Amino acid sequence: MTISVRGANKRYGDFAALDNVSLEIPDGSLTALLGPSGSGKSTLLRSIAGLDELDSGVITISGDDVTGLSPQKRDIGFVFQHYAAFKHMTVRDNVAFGLKIRKRPKSEITARVDELLEVVGLTGFQTRYPAQLSGGQRQRMALARALAVDPQVLLLDEPFGALDAKVREDLRRWLRRLHDEVNVTTVLVTHDQAEALDIADRIAVLNRGRLEQVGSPDDLYERP
Ligand code: ADP
Ligand code: ADP
Repeated sequence: MTISVRGANKRYGDFAALDNVSLEIPDGSLTALLGPSGSGKSTLLRSIAGLDELDSGVITISGDDVTGLSPQKRDIGFVFQHYAAFKHMTVRDNVAFGLKIRKRPKSEITARVDELLEVVGLTGFQTRYPAQLSGGQRQRMALARALAVDPQVLLLDEPFGALDAKVREDLRRWLRRLHDEVNVTTVLVTHDQAEALDIADRIAVLNRGRLEQVGSPDDLYERP
């Protein structure tokens, strides 16, 4: 699903968190929103998710204007660094959450959860609680939960930010492979240029609420 952002503005008091941002995110791409802290990346992502409301501008997903729609009506999955898990639920119930609120049949939920846990390498962890997982495993569980409802769009806000370098790199590779398999349009927020170069096929650079550049990693940066 192509995501199109046109003329997005968002102010907090006098401060422009988004300053007339227009951006096309191609169907099936893995696009990184890259920029320093405070540049507006999360605000843009949250606006696409429907968690923040723009002051002005239009967001379409696959041509449909979603500007006024609630997050539940946008067909998206999201993973944020600090909201990765429901602590009081097992891994299985975390992953099943979106399916349960959509009232899917029990047999379908069981089969889908098994399938997803296999995809993210957490078969055998069904009855654990998030506190009994490593950081990397928790993030993979969060991705399984986001993917469970077959979203058209996957939004990731620094999903690996709190992890150590080795785990982060493994997860990056893994996310890239997963993305190539399921082909869901993915938007990843990061302040880490190396991460964006490593994983994304498209990079949008934000600075002080403005979109500065957009292109492929090769367009934007010369690589050694
Ligand atoms: P980034 O994700 O690039 O770090 P954000 O989109 O989170 O940037 O924030 C952009 C700017 O907007 C920051 O200066 C931040 O302080 C400000 N901001 C974000 N959310 C709020 C809010 N709810 N109230 C006031 N200011 C906010
Ligand atoms: P990952 O790369 O998925 O983050 P780690 O290398 O951090 O995994 O963890 C390796 C193994 O250690 C995992 O298979 C996991 O079962 C186990 N492990 C890590 N942390 C915990 C924990 N808090 N409780 C139980 N097992 C853990």
